[in-house]
Amino acid sequence: MSSFQFQVIGTVESPYKQKFAIPRQPGLIAEARGKLVLVPPYAEDDIVRGIEAFSHLWLVFVFHETASKGWSPLVRPPRLGGNTRKGVFATRATFRPNPIGLSVVKLERVYRHKSNLVLELSGIDLLDGTPILDIKPYLPYADALPEAGGGFADSAPQTSMAVSFSQQASTFCQAQTLYPELAVLIEKVLKQDPRPSYKKQRDAEQHYGMTLYHFNIKWTVNGDHNHVTEIAQLP
Ligand code: SAM
Repeated sequence: MSSFQFQVIGTVESPYKQKFAIPRQPGLIAEARGKLVLVPPYAEDDIVRGIEAFSHLWLVFVFHETASKGWSPLVRPPRLGGNTRKGVFATRATFRPNPIGLSVVKLERVYRHKSNLVLELSGIDLLDGTPILDIKPYLPYADALPEAGGGFADSAPQTSMAVSFSQQASTFCQAQTLYPELAVLIEKVLKQDPRPSYKKQRDAEQHYGMTLYHFNIKWTVNGDHNHVTEIAQLP
């Protein structure tokens, strides 16, 4: 057997509506909360019996947004400034022979919503609509290896960018009672400096935009300073 077919067991509802600005690994932004919605026939209470005893889960998912774009044996990891090539299997790149991703996320709670079963998660690095293939509990005794070497990504990326908010952006965030962590989420996303490597070398002020939840966020970058200029609700 050289090829297999798998069923999607559920999909993720995420604040990240486009690839740009998603952190490169899970756990970097605790305020990135999402929901894994299990659909029938995988929405049975029995299928998750005992899962709440685990604080973290491994999610096996499909890089659905980029899957059709194929892969190449060498990739340029952003961590290396985008200039050095590494073998695809020496990286966590999205463009892989089988476009399968693996993320460890925090399980906040499990609840039922009509015929669906919902796993509320935090610390996610997943695009909205990501199809999930499997869930496995994170086992600290087997999965946490303090002696492990991390190659060219031995520690979490630096988050040294400063972030400020305009009066409008700040007032907008304070008014979002349903999203009390919006300002912190924006701040932590921008601190990661989501710009592509080649733009980080530029001196002139740069203008960017992203969508988190249903909010359009605009900001400028000047040196190592991000300034959130405007936030608007999408129609
Ligand atoms: N933790 C996973 C892993 O190691 O397999 C993902 C690592 S990958 C470097 C992280 C990036 O995947 C994110 O920054 C985001 O841009 C991208 N991504 C997340 N969900 C995706 C999806 N459904 N389709 C395509 N790309 C996605």
